[in-house]
Amino acid sequence: MVQVDLAKIERIPGRAREDEIEAADSPFYTRQPLTVRRYLYLSKDLLRKQREVPVNPDRTEIDDPTEITNTIKEMALKLGADVVGIADYHPAATFSQFPLRDFKRIVVFGKEFIYDSKLEIGHHATLELAQVKFELDNIAVQLNYHFASWGYAGSAMMNGGEVLLPVAGYLAGLGELGKLGSIISKEHGSTLRLGAVATEMPLKIDGPKDHGVDQVCQSCQICTRFCPGEAISPEKYDFHGIPRWRINTPKCEPYLFKLFGCKICMMVCPFGSRSKFKEEYKNTAAAIREAKTREALLDKIVEQSGIDFDKLNVPVVEHYPDGWDSEE
Ligand code: SF4
Ligand code: SF4
Repeated sequence: MVQVDLAKIERIPGRAREDEIEAADSPFYTRQPLTVRRYLYLSKDLLRKQREVPVNPDRTEIDDPTEITNTIKEMALKLGADVVGIADYHPAATFSQFPLRDFKRIVVFGKEFIYDSKLEIGHHATLELAQVKFELDNIAVQLNYHFASWGYAGSAMMNGGEVLLPVAGYLAGLGELGKLGSIISKEHGSTLRLGAVATEMPLKIDGPKDHGVDQVCQSCQICTRFCPGEAISPEKYDFHGIPRWRINTPKCEPYLFKLFGCKICMMVCPFGSRSKFKEEYKNTAAAIREAKTREALLDKIVEQSGIDFDKLNVPVVEHYPDGWDSEE
């Protein structure tokens, strides 16, 4: 497992992208099917307005952090999360343009995005992703209501919020940061999408865990080899104090927009072959063997999707703050 010295990590600059690409008149938004737009509306126009809620002034003191931590985890799972862990509210897990808050912990949870395990891009995948993101946002808001009812302030950290979700997920023990830039775990491979809620409540911290990912990424080059944007570095960099591989966002993003969310790196990751999605990965492994090159694999995926991506109007947001390298 990669050893991260948290004391050396600098806060990372983020960027406000969601409002631009999800504005009601943006081409990214209007080309989505209505079912997807409905979920975007629920997430962006309704749930994000409930990020922070009034706190009960009659606070319940926590005598047993283990008991309340277990209660919160059970709630997250009942609300639909597939995994949940607790991280310290560490500056390293927050974007630098937001002020640090007096929170103590970040509850990080994940849901499987099944299409990360399939060799498929297109409207079905887009719809499921919008649904998964809405459900994650909903879990964050619901948990935060409960924290508020116990008398503890919190903030639901939706996608595009103040928290760098993959780093928070790593700190909560949900997986390790793989070469493809996001969380990978033994059980779920690269299929987890994350949500979080920061809280004043002194929950019991899980902390980072060894999932055997860093060891495999040292010698595996599959995501680097098949990334159509050549956006995944084969070598580690010092990323604001974190020794990690880096995704070049400006190189990735044209494919992300063009293909309704590219995710080829996640589909080809061989951790899928060891995860609960190993049956689905067999099809991907056969396609990789047949295609051999990133161009041939992309052609195969596009052909399977039945969508003429070249005819779609593709907006790309092209401003990045200094020091910005990777989003997820
Ligand atoms: S999403 Fe696509 S373009 Fe971006 S890093 Fe992954 S494979 Fe490359
Ligand atoms: S494809 Fe290979 S190198 Fe890339 S994240 Fe997965 S295991 Fe690591």
